[in-house]
Amino acid sequence: MAGTPINTVPWNGHVGAVSFTFDDALANQPQNLKPMLDDLPDVHVTFFLTDMGNGLKQNAAGFAALAKAGNEIGNHTKTHAHLTGVGSDSELEEEIVKFAETIESTLAEQGADVKVTSLATPFCENNAKIKDVIAKRHFINRDCGWHGRNDWDTEPDWMSLQAKIWTRSGATVTEMLSALDTAAYIGNFEGANPWDVQVKDGSWLVVLNHGVTDDAGDDYAINPSDIKKIFEHAVENKLWVAPFGTVGAYHRAHFVVDAATSNATDDGFTVTWEIPNEHMPKSVPLRVKIDTQSVDENAVVEQAGKKIVPESDGSYIIEFMAKELKVRKPNADDVLDDSQSTLHKTTFANPAYTKYTVFDLNGVRLGGTNGWIIPASYPKGSYIIRAEAGDLPAVTRIVNK
Ligand SMILES: [Zn+2]
Repeated sequence: MAGTPINTVPWNGHVGAVSFTFDDALANQPQNLKPMLDDLPDVHVTFFLTDMGNGLKQNAAGFAALAKAGNEIGNHTKTHAHLTGVGSDSELEEEIVKFAETIESTLAEQGADVKVTSLATPFCENNAKIKDVIAKRHFINRDCGWHGRNDWDTEPDWMSLQAKIWTRSGATVTEMLSALDTAAYIGNFEGANPWDVQVKDGSWLVVLNHGVTDDAGDDYAINPSDIKKIFEHAVENKLWVAPFGTVGAYHRAHFVVDAATSNATDDGFTVTWEIPNEHMPKSVPLRVKIDTQSVDENAVVEQAGKKIVPESDGSYIIEFMAKELKVRKPNADDVLDDSQSTLHKTTFANPAYTKYTVFDLNGVRLGGTNGWIIPASYPKGSYIIRAEAGDLPAVTRIVNK
């Protein structure tokens, strides 16, 4: 089979993406954002920590709680240094590489298991030498840029992603809401400057914030009520509101997987790929479309020997970090024939799982079941059932005769 059999669904199935980032490890961030984010389950953000002003040490408990709630913790250097003014490589490593370890160990003391994979350069000062040091410990770096948007089809400089900066004097809430509309391609762009127009397949807006407080004297800070309004607008626009490193890893992974070619096997094909940077997150789930029909209408998709069933839209959620994927014809072990109208527990059921979700062969979710039992009310035919626990799904195909 020639060509690429995998196509990643842009922005995890959303119209576009937005990542809100908060710099400098300020006390008002956990204070004002933690309760707000607890009420917005579809919003997860990134905090770039520094120990400038003892910010990391003093606010470690608050940031650990935010990390445990699914937000990203990134690196903003030890002293918030002007990196272009740092002379020696060892000082750069101290600011960047070693401080990433310090963040992880400091938050571990607060019970948060954090892997720091993203960096943001202070003052957005960057050059080739700095990028080399960043890449020793991080797979992505945030700098500044006036529109802050990234195109699905254009591979950016991963060591210099652009972000739109918030300041009270430099941006209005209306402008931020409009930037979110542009990312989601909502509005009339006829005759607009090309830079103001959303790009094909949605775009990824990265927003750079600092404090979250009503203190009007702090030009870099945003009012809690304003950032809440902006979060809510992003959700209304159906954008993927996810941390910088999460969207960045998805974006970076798709350039690799979508370019991978397949190798024919006796019963289908395999696809393998390489990880482009060893400091990517431990897990990078990718929502993809796979050409399975060329193998079999009931083809089985597997990674590391575990079967993956399609989602309700026919896409599959695969693990990029597994570096391989196999598509093959179904065999006898995939299909359980039973003369009963109701199927019962079988020897290959994983005893660790008791609850399952039942799908039809198009991947449409039909409902739940306990054990390997298809409710008698279901029509005769083939079903896919998937265990509702475990890091990768335990799946099999069964026939209700
Ligand atoms: Zn900063």
